[in-house]
Amino acid sequence: MDKKVAAARKAQELRGQIEQFAGSLRAEVYGEQGCPAWGTLFSEIEELGVQVGDAICRAFIQQSVTQQAEEEPSCYQHAGCPTCGGPLDHRDPEPKPLLTRRGEVSWQEPQTYCKKCRKAFFPSVQKFGDTC
Ligand SMILES: [Zn+2]
Repeated sequence: MDKKVAAARKAQELRGQIEQFAGSLRAEVYGEQGCPAWGTLFSEIEELGVQVGDAICRAFIQQSVTQQAEEEPSCYQHAGCPTCGGPLDHRDPEPKPLLTRRGEVSWQEPQTYCKKCRKAFFPSVQKFGDTC
């Protein structure tokens, strides 16, 4: 199935929760009833909706990639150097900015280092979309 169609179906499945969450956010912004004051321009409502939507999108992506990195499959944790096959040392994760269609997100990217090749490797580069 096309990934865009699959994602649209998932979003449709979440419709009820999204409606509830939008209602909570509107109450936060416009008061208990979630109703914009009379005279609030459509363009103001639209701008706020777009910015809130983009912020939710960035949070969704950032949380997802962060958790995925933390739950790296053991086949990647114990893999050898992709170049020479030698042992890899684990190093502290580095902050990695990602530019998405809805703005920048940042996450801690795990990395390994091969002493022989003097090269750092970022398993996420190989693993996104791959399976063991
Ligand atoms: Zn190597």
